[in-house]
Amino acid sequence: MPLNNQILHISAECYPAAKTGGLADVAGALPKYLNDLNYPSSVVIPKYALPWINKQEWQEVFAGSVWMGYYDLPFRVHTLTEDLLGFPLYVVDIPGKFDRPGIYADQYGNFYGDEVERFISFQKAVLRWVQSMEHRPSILHCHDHHTGLIPFFLKHCPEYESLKSIPSIFTIHNGRYHGSFGWDRRYLLPHFENHFGGLIEWNGAINPLAAGIKNSWRLTTVSNAYLDELRSDSAGLEWLLHEEWRKSVGILNGIDTNVWDPKTDASLSANLKNSASYFKRENKRPLCETFGLNKKWPLISFIGRFAIEKGADILPDVVYHTLSQGWSMNLFILGSGDPVLQDALNHLRHRFQGRYNTYIGYNEGLAHQIYAGSDFLVMPSRVEPCGLNQMYAMRYGTIPIVRRTGGLKDSVTDIGEPEGTGIMFNHVWTGDIMHAFDRAITLYEDKKKFQEVVAKNMELDFSWERSATAYINIYEDVKNERG
Ligand code: ADP
Repeated sequence: MPLNNQILHISAECYPAAKTGGLADVAGALPKYLNDLNYPSSVVIPKYALPWINKQEWQEVFAGSVWMGYYDLPFRVHTLTEDLLGFPLYVVDIPGKFDRPGIYADQYGNFYGDEVERFISFQKAVLRWVQSMEHRPSILHCHDHHTGLIPFFLKHCPEYESLKSIPSIFTIHNGRYHGSFGWDRRYLLPHFENHFGGLIEWNGAINPLAAGIKNSWRLTTVSNAYLDELRSDSAGLEWLLHEEWRKSVGILNGIDTNVWDPKTDASLSANLKNSASYFKRENKRPLCETFGLNKKWPLISFIGRFAIEKGADILPDVVYHTLSQGWSMNLFILGSGDPVLQDALNHLRHRFQGRYNTYIGYNEGLAHQIYAGSDFLVMPSRVEPCGLNQMYAMRYGTIPIVRRTGGLKDSVTDIGEPEGTGIMFNHVWTGDIMHAFDRAITLYEDKKKFQEVVAKNMELDFSWERSATAYINIYEDVKNERG
């Protein structure tokens, strides 16, 4: 299977093989859509001992070894025998490093602790494999810090001299994790001249995220606003992101419009036929009946992890303050995470029966029903590199109420503006969110305007085709630069 002229995505995660978050979604969707646009793309990830990976049939395409400073580490590259995903998926089998039942942590949530060796061995193995190819990929697209050293290896390590002309793209999905480690572990890296050391260093340590930013030909993040925010808050890399502004761009992720299709989604009580108001009504009714809510009042929902970055900690306070003042509205919360929050949200059910309910847990089918059956979806996120919920919500006719941050800022405009699609607020603060809810209730009462916004939102284009085209423009740019 030649990789000539392909984009090779190098990632720690790829849906459905290995997923902990948005990184997997992008690595599993972008190549599929690139291929659909006749832009051949493949993905390579480590071969973890995860259920999906264990279940598949694999065929070996390469066997080699990498030098880890004081020992030689053998590895093999496998690919799927069948085209299951719409793109070729390769996995690097490195015994002792990745044949474990978790990606970064075991089943009890304990981190493995040898992340540095694991991901250096993966990066070296991928390059060793690429070197062996007669026809090589045209671009290496590296994702997050786990693959951030590759752009440096390509440019400055004599061992990879033959790959020097291959452009690298680096995408930041989550800038909080840098993967830093001390210079005492330099022996794990391939040889390079000392004076290049600064190109992988930040704050006295080897910093793979910084290395990706400094050495890649182009830098992307999963939204423009997130790129801006990283320039003022990225755990110490702010100045570097300022410096590299010329080669940086934000590209909003897409959503899988085949899975998220109101016309065919099998998880819904009613599919979209001709009338959006029928679709909304017939999905709201069963949702309200099942969870004892008042279908005459607006239904504002939340879906997500109960985590600080999602602003979930503010939810009990918001529920308490809005509903104890007797506002004519319902609140519904689907999610799980912090046990203290789960308890607090559960307790409130008794107090506000008939207007509030919660489902603690992960329930994909219910999430779809909520996107279709709610009137509004609230996202009080502190950090949201891209965010998908707001896009699913709009596609299913639910108006987003979002904090002005990251990808939310890039995908929602306030209804106060022409062509507004949602309601925006500035602070993760109960007063601000209550003000946003107040605006939501007013909009809901103005039936004509409300339905106009719903109908327009359902027509918006959040498809991956749009994002994939933006990536293609970057690939074409660097190909031209290489000449
Ligand atoms: P993140 O990856 O940071 O959690 P995203 O917005 O990128 O946030 O993706 C969240 C995805 O997970 C959405 O598809 C959302 O519907 C789904 N989700 C989150 N929590 C739940 C839950 N409890 N039940 C069902 N789906 C959930």
